[in-house]
Amino acid sequence: MKNKVDYLIVGQGLAGTFLAFQLMQRGKTVLIVDKGLTYSSSRVAAGVINPIVLRRFTITWRAKEFLSYNPDFYHALDQFLGKQYHFDIPLKKLISSQDEMDFWEHRYAKDGVSDFIHRELTDASDAIQPAEPLKIGLVKQASWLNISALLFDFRKKMISTNSLLEDIFDFSELKENSYKNCEFNNIVFCEGAQGKYNPLFKDLPFSLNKGQLITIKNTSLPADSILKKKVFILPTEENLFKIGATYSWKWDTSSEEAAHKIEADKTTLLKSHLEDMTTADYELVNVETGIRPSIKDRRPVIGRHSTRRNTFIFNGMGTRGCFMAPLLTEEFIEHIENDKPLDSEVNINRF
Ligand SMILES: Cc1cc2nc3c(=O)[nH]c(=O)nc-3n(C[C@H](O)[C@H](O)[C@H](O)COP(=O)(O)OP(=O)(O)OC[C@H]3O[C@@H](n4cnc5c(N)ncnc54)[C@H](O)[C@@H]3O)c2cc1C
Repeated sequence: MKNKVDYLIVGQGLAGTFLAFQLMQRGKTVLIVDKGLTYSSSRVAAGVINPIVLRRFTITWRAKEFLSYNPDFYHALDQFLGKQYHFDIPLKKLISSQDEMDFWEHRYAKDGVSDFIHRELTDASDAIQPAEPLKIGLVKQASWLNISALLFDFRKKMISTNSLLEDIFDFSELKENSYKNCEFNNIVFCEGAQGKYNPLFKDLPFSLNKGQLITIKNTSLPADSILKKKVFILPTEENLFKIGATYSWKWDTSSEEAAHKIEADKTTLLKSHLEDMTTADYELVNVETGIRPSIKDRRPVIGRHSTRRNTFIFNGMGTRGCFMAPLLTEEFIEHIENDKPLDSEVNINRF
């Protein structure tokens, strides 16, 4: 383990990983402490990157900025790890009623949505084996991040350079400029949902959200696009597809195991949404749950501790970490290193 670093980072989910990567790109030294929680949000996340809310056809917050920043960022990360993790992939919205067709046309003409969807609807291909007659609406600029593989490989690389300590962060060992045997200039907490219990950043209005998704095996569904109706069908590996995800605001929080328990009714719901899209045969191969680190106002929470000048939080990525975190990481580093103001919507000062 390194004994002197510029940055100590607690948590190696997507937030901690992107932060460590960008800091190292700037020549900073880092040590990550991460206990490798199996149920961290990032390990479970599907990695779909989509600039549009497909229920209401609204453009997501700062979509254009994130879309223009992400390709170079993900390319640099691919280069660093020597493998491709980020892929452009068509996202196809399945449309089954005249009302939905009219809504597509109506929204196309409004609020700049035409930058993000194609106007023309096409017929669904036979490969989808639609459960009912379908039209397809195409979303522009969607992509997929193979996030679990990315985190796994990044972790391996950090361990190999003594830059990741696999442990639970012990707050009783934290001093002003050191943790155990390691001195640091700055410490950043990227703990995802566990941030809710961080004694240094108490009372932040976390509004955690539990998600469940299933993985199915199928040999006929299209492997070259993401399909979306009430849920998405995302091709991940050969003949494997992730179907998800659910959103729950209430669950048993009495223990870690209880919180992450697989809920049978959610599995049934996901299967029924899947069967609403396609009549293709499938085998259920896996069910996963994770807790999304969301904040009440649906914006990340980023910034400096009120009294500890070298202590920061980078959290609250909610449902869209893969989309927002790359640029937010750069803005956060600019804030710490060069005093650039943070976007007021993410700044911890708003609380
Ligand atoms: C079912 C589901 C599907 C999702 N799908 C998508 C999607 O398609 N696209 C998208 O953009 N987002 C998706 N998300 C959201 C995405 O997962 C989050 O936005 C993002 O991963 C949050 O990353 P994070 O690093 O902030 O937190 P986390 O991923 O939770 O990471 C926190 C890390 O901190 C570590 N940690 C915490 N406390 C401690 C401690 N005390 N000591 C040591 N280590 C600690 C944990 O081990 C973990 O590695 C999904 C989430 C879920 C649950």
